[in-house]
Amino acid sequence: MTAHQFASDNYAGICPEAWAAMAEANAGHHPAYGDDEWTQRASDAFRGLFGTDCEVFFAFNGTAANSLALAALCQSYHSVICSDAAHVETDECGAPEFFSNGSKLLAARSPDGKLTPELIRGFVTGRGDIHFPKPRVVTITQPTETGRLYSLEEIRAISATCREHGLALHMDGARFANACASLGCSPAEMSWRAGVDVLCFGGTKNGMAVGEAILFFRRELAEDFDYRCKQAGQLASKMRFLAAPWVRMLESGAWLRHAAHANAAARDFAALVEGIPGVELMFPVEANAVFLRLAPEVQERLRAKGWRFYTFIGGGARFMFAWDADPVRTAALAADIRGAE
Ligand SMILES: *Cc1c(COP(=O)(O)O)cnc(C)c1O
Repeated sequence: MTAHQFASDNYAGICPEAWAAMAEANAGHHPAYGDDEWTQRASDAFRGLFGTDCEVFFAFNGTAANSLALAALCQSYHSVICSDAAHVETDECGAPEFFSNGSKLLAARSPDGKLTPELIRGFVTGRGDIHFPKPRVVTITQPTETGRLYSLEEIRAISATCREHGLALHMDGARFANACASLGCSPAEMSWRAGVDVLCFGGTKNGMAVGEAILFFRRELAEDFDYRCKQAGQLASKMRFLAAPWVRMLESGAWLRHAAHANAAARDFAALVEGIPGVELMFPVEANAVFLRLAPEVQERLRAKGWRFYTFIGGGARFMFAWDADPVRTAALAADIRGAE
């Protein structure tokens, strides 16, 4: 199957910048296990982009990045507060609990997938006795699994609540670039300046093959994190192939350009399907996701026409727009939705 689809931003290939960087890194021999020039340059590029001297690590995928970051922030008897729609809760097969040796995820019921200071307080003030796993970390997803955004004010309010209760704040930024492009704010403003302690910055959904970055803004939290990565099988021996694409993505601005393109494609698609009878937009389109409530027969007809989409996330039909979202295919999908009602 080669047709351009919107089932997942992971259906897309590797963007030209990442591809070229891998080719460049492929010339000659280089030191292994991250002791190479590319890894140094990528780490420095992150520190430059974020305007702070953070600790930078790379993992193969987002599940590992999230799980290992959370594990670094707590002991096995601690707990992690998340939304019930969070990827760590619903889509990581228990990896956060596994890599933390049992830290419990406390999933707050949230209608829009977002955490609030009230929801966080509900967990920290509810039980303070020794029989309950002590809350130590809050994790938020920016943008959320259903394509919603936390405003800077909302992130700041959450981090203030975290400070009040001695909790660390982790951000799952599998689509961090899309959030920056949509809010028009700097990476610093949306992370450490807003009180985020650790950020998992997604490269894969931004157009790379692999290689999620883990940024520790409080350097002391990264103690021994290199050992944790190695033990988890996440230390790439040829690290330069994870790092080099980041150098090009960050230095050329491609990370933001690709995300802005994806966001615009999602907005265009939403505008094309809006008002079609039997089609309901489930959430405001704030990043690169469009969730539609579609009648089962409409879904069946779309599938018969060869369209792929997921229905197990957010309770509707999900359409994701990637760095290479094609306007012709976007229009074709919208036409099939219109024709199929
Ligand atoms: C895609 C995604 C991840 C990472 O998933 P992997 O398949 O492990 O790379 C993490 N969080 C969110 C919100 C995601 O959408």
